[in-house]
Amino acid sequence: MTDRSSDSSRPESRLIFEKSRPGRKGYSLPRLDVPPVDPLQTLPKDLVRTDPPELPELSEPEVVRHFVNLSVKNHHVDRGFYPLGSCTMKYNPKIGEELARLPGFTQLHPFQPEQTVQGALQLMWELGQLLLEIVGLDAITLQPAAGAHGEFTGISIIRAYHESQGRKRRKILIPDSAHGTNPASTTLSGYLSVKVPSNRSGTIDLYRLKDLVDDDVAGIMITNPNTLGIFEKEIDQVIEIIHDKGGLVYLDGANLNALIGISRPGDCGFDIVHFNLHKTFSTPHGGGGPGSGPIAVTERLARFLPVPVIEKGDGYHLNYDRSDSIGKVHSFYGNFLVMVKAYAYLRMLGPEGLYDVAKASILNANYLIQSLKDDYKLPYPCFCMHEGVLSGSGLKAFGVRTLDVAKRLLDFGFHAPTIYFPLIVSEALMIEPTETESIETLEDFITAMKRIRKEAETDPERLKKAPTQTPVRRLDEVKAARELNVRYQG
Ligand SMILES: *Cc1c(COP(=O)(O)O)cnc(C)c1O
Repeated sequence: MTDRSSDSSRPESRLIFEKSRPGRKGYSLPRLDVPPVDPLQTLPKDLVRTDPPELPELSEPEVVRHFVNLSVKNHHVDRGFYPLGSCTMKYNPKIGEELARLPGFTQLHPFQPEQTVQGALQLMWELGQLLLEIVGLDAITLQPAAGAHGEFTGISIIRAYHESQGRKRRKILIPDSAHGTNPASTTLSGYLSVKVPSNRSGTIDLYRLKDLVDDDVAGIMITNPNTLGIFEKEIDQVIEIIHDKGGLVYLDGANLNALIGISRPGDCGFDIVHFNLHKTFSTPHGGGGPGSGPIAVTERLARFLPVPVIEKGDGYHLNYDRSDSIGKVHSFYGNFLVMVKAYAYLRMLGPEGLYDVAKASILNANYLIQSLKDDYKLPYPCFCMHEGVLSGSGLKAFGVRTLDVAKRLLDFGFHAPTIYFPLIVSEALMIEPTETESIETLEDFITAMKRIRKEAETDPERLKKAPTQTPVRRLDEVKAARELNVRYQG
């Protein structure tokens, strides 16, 4: 492959403004069918611009090539394998995008009278019912905009519940394998986040948990399967210990694709669950949204849900009249078009299809982890659920780190797995293939990982220099965060 990064003479390296030529057009407007007016006669003077806007001027093929070239400079799931652990970067069917673009959805206005948006309300209500059936709980809000926002909403409900019982509690327990958003949303909500250690099998240590539970514990936030990809086998006991002390149990449902159709959190005794519609239920993500993080709760917590709640009676109705509600957590009703995609996905797959999703996600992850466990260490040796965690700590002997493995993978056309998380594994490589990958893709990835393992021994310098085949080479990551500069520099 030729070196593309330093060659600014290549058209794909030039900014769209550099490609611009005065008068070049990629559109034509229809002939004016109303009398022309002088804007200076009809608009306030200070609203009328004096200079034309500085927009690039290009023909349609130039615009298309510009953006197609840009779109492959970065890695994405439509381009190749993206095994980023904890993120569920699966392929999202394009039909979801098509449906979310129907004018009947995109041209709705949030201030429209209820009777004119019955279809949208019906879709949201039915989506809610499907999600409740999947987790086995009683009531739901679709408002939160992401998983972390669901956590914030859930913790607000935990607070409202305890206050309704006339008690103030200050602590939320969180296992040490948890995603960073768990302690962050807990702290943001004004609670003290208390770490629960894991035992040697990578699950919650029941003895330590019992020591930590007291009358000041408002609840526990658990990810299951946890971020090691391990199912918490003693979950019923964990839940009982918390419930016995009057606390509530929150499930971080980011890993729901391992459970759907197999096990229902509500049946295990969870009180609150969040969904990441943009992970499990098919909305592309990774660029910062929009996402959707609905939360489902048990009957006794339903009265605290944010307003409005969608109700079905004679038609669909938005109920704002709920005195115990924690209030609103998002403008209007949340990110509606993400809900459209999730609804389409659920209706398309049906119960059997969702069960297949869970089975395939687990099979794929175990195939990868078992194929690689002799080349990389498996710190918690067991079968995993939809993702697994390896360790690159054995490569340190060759002066190679997990970061180098991740960078070298880019040269082979793969996105790197999540690295250095969860924190309880040194040199962690957290791999989530997802259910949408074929065995051939998995084999290609395994081959690349094994080759990198060999290179660590025979040619460690090559790993330290990687990537060499990407438009941008290895970045100074601290500098990139501190002095962000997004302009192309040839
Ligand atoms: C992604 C993720 C979150 C946060 O969800 P967002 O939608 O990104 O806010 C929380 N917990 C786990 C385990 C996750 O993977």
